[in-house]
Amino acid sequence: MKKLALHWKIIIGLVLGIIWALLSSQLGWSEFTVNWIAPFGTIFINLLKLIAVPLVLFSIISGVANIGDPASLGRMGGKTLGAYLLTTILAVGLGLTLVNIIKPGALVDEQSRIDNRISYEIWADAEGYEIKDGINYLKDPAFLERAQKISDLSKSELQDATVSEKMETADKTKDAGPLQPLVDLVPQNFFKALTDNGLMLQIIFFALFFGVCLLFIPNEKSAPVTKLVDSIMEVFLKMVDLVMQAAPFFVFALLAGVVSKMAGDDIGKVWEIFKGLSWYSLTVFAGLMLMIFVIYPLILKLFVKQIPYKGFFKSMSPAQTLAFSTSSSAATLPVTMECVEENLGVDKKVTSFVLPIGATVNMDGTCLYQAVAVVFLAQLHMIDLTLGQQLTIVLTATLASIGSAAVPSAGLVMLIIVLGSVGLNPAWIAIIFPVDRILDMFRTVVNVTGDATVSSIIAKGEGMLHYKEPKSASETFDMD
Ligand code: ASP
Repeated sequence: MKKLALHWKIIIGLVLGIIWALLSSQLGWSEFTVNWIAPFGTIFINLLKLIAVPLVLFSIISGVANIGDPASLGRMGGKTLGAYLLTTILAVGLGLTLVNIIKPGALVDEQSRIDNRISYEIWADAEGYEIKDGINYLKDPAFLERAQKISDLSKSELQDATVSEKMETADKTKDAGPLQPLVDLVPQNFFKALTDNGLMLQIIFFALFFGVCLLFIPNEKSAPVTKLVDSIMEVFLKMVDLVMQAAPFFVFALLAGVVSKMAGDDIGKVWEIFKGLSWYSLTVFAGLMLMIFVIYPLILKLFVKQIPYKGFFKSMSPAQTLAFSTSSSAATLPVTMECVEENLGVDKKVTSFVLPIGATVNMDGTCLYQAVAVVFLAQLHMIDLTLGQQLTIVLTATLASIGSAAVPSAGLVMLIIVLGSVGLNPAWIAIIFPVDRILDMFRTVVNVTGDATVSSIIAKGEGMLHYKEPKSASETFDMD
């Protein structure tokens, strides 16, 4: 019998997981699902992360050490960062264009937009911001009573624990000085960086430092270390193979848990939430789909040529389905590396260096979503953002996506900073919070696809791309 390709098995697990969650919500079994099935999803994420952290470390050291000389490392590093930055800016640009054309926030009924506007004016007044664009309801006696009501209401509404917790995290980031991100890059204790999940950039810094120093010591001294690091990497890649064999089951558990938590015992609720935010969600979705199915293939056609449209997706589908199920590019990284190396034919020298960095800093889906979200929220509050403010969004969304950790919801937390940068109320993340997980799943697919695209370009430029059409679908994830 022909073997079913892994990504199909994962997709089946995913669909069954959703069906299970919906059924259990109907039958009142959500608690059972959350207690007895969802933990396997958590185990899956834990396993992937367990592999991802050391894989980033060893893979970058081995990548740098195998490049051979510091000059080619510099060239490749420069190209990589340049390409990551360009795709990110392209994605923000696309997000801004779509949201300005579709105007999802303006499609909401007039009365609630006026109420929103009043609540914004109350907030801006309290924060000492000057209201620039014309309408000033607070000066209009006809609206004062309404303003009082809204102000009382918003105080109680913003008590949501999850949201205020997220705001606290972001506030800490916001309050730091301008050079804080640079300071945060350098760990004072390497082992602490390893034990803390959010410190991937510090691990990358250490790995680059270590790898570069290996290049500078005599070969007879560095060779045993390089060999050891290469062998350790092989062990981790084997772990990925093993874990992935059980991925369809794990993905079932993961999705059953995520959807059950969303729906509780009332699916109707999920539907109501979606209806209110449907235009916003559709705009983000359209942008993300354009990135995956139009922009990246176009970039590949222009710069790489030999990877065909279908071949690219066939090669990347295990990583893409996994990104969708886990909402984490870090957890997906081990599989992304395997797909790009084995299926797209990108040399290990490129993947081991370009992909771990990409998973951490290159998040095209995240910045596209942030651009759409900020402008949507402004539209919802009847605020016209100026060109200058939109350019500020390009800058801050780019930085915020670089700063976002590759874990679920990181993009939402960093959105607080983008909102703050153009004088909008950071608490508005509460409005889009209900649909964030599903959008997170899609944007993570874009993040991972973007990393794969850039590594193919870099490999092509370095003469290290050896793409071969896979003979059968099951070959896209070789588990031998
Ligand atoms: N979940 C995303 C990732 O890991 C980040 C985000 O946009 O929240 O790539």
